Amino acid sequence: DIPVLTIDGPTASGKGTLASAVAARLGYHLLDSGAVYRAAALAASRAGVDRDDEPALADLAARLDLRFGADGVWLGGDEVGESLRLEAIGSLASRISAWPRVRRALLDIQLAFHRLPGLVADGRDMGTVVFPVARLKVFLTASAAQRAERRYRQLISRGISANIDSLRADLEARDARDQSRSVSPSRPAPDALLLDNSALSIEDSVEQVLAAWQA
Ligand code: C5P
Repeated sequence: DIPVLTIDGPTASGKGTLASAVAARLGYHLLDSGAVYRAAALAASRAGVDRDDEPALADLAARLDLRFGADGVWLGGDEVGESLRLEAIGSLASRISAWPRVRRALLDIQLAFHRLPGLVADGRDMGTVVFPVARLKVFLTASAAQRAERRYRQLISRGISANIDSLRADLEARDARDQSRSVSPSRPAPDALLLDNSALSIEDSVEQVLAAWQA
């Protein structure tokens, strides 16, 4: 019975930051499932596979040579940590992740993270589909304005220019797609703890999640 804590939520809700802080505090493994979908998107983009070619995408996803290590994220022989964070790759990930066969092909990579001493997994369907056995399921929300602002600051701090209105439009379009797809739509598990972090600091969110975990 290996413990799992899941954190799902929309784009730029702060779930990645929260999940990695909670994993560090608990000494658990961390699964950033968005990075798995982004890696599949990057591989598809490099191979020139059409975003609507479900069989070819699923085939590529099933053969994905992906490794998460202390030395970065590796796709084949390339370190791709930076490339995975590109907006265009996030957007492509949200297109290809709507295909059921792609989701199925990426399942084993995600399940392999479920190891001792425990796992914190973040994404869209961690609590509903991938780890329904999780002991605690958190669903994070934050207003679209707040999330656009966060994403904007992240990009600027990395020296990438950005426009806040187009970022907001893009993330709202992505959320709409993630919530309306036929398989694994992004939504809270029935037993999820809903946490709106619009007005919470990262430290406060971490404390609230750890308190719920220990309860
Ligand atoms: O969370 P992140 O923005 O990195 O995820 C990129 C895209 O991958 C999301 O917009 C979503 O469409 C997809 N995704 C998913 N299921 C997950 C994680 C991410 O469908 N568990």
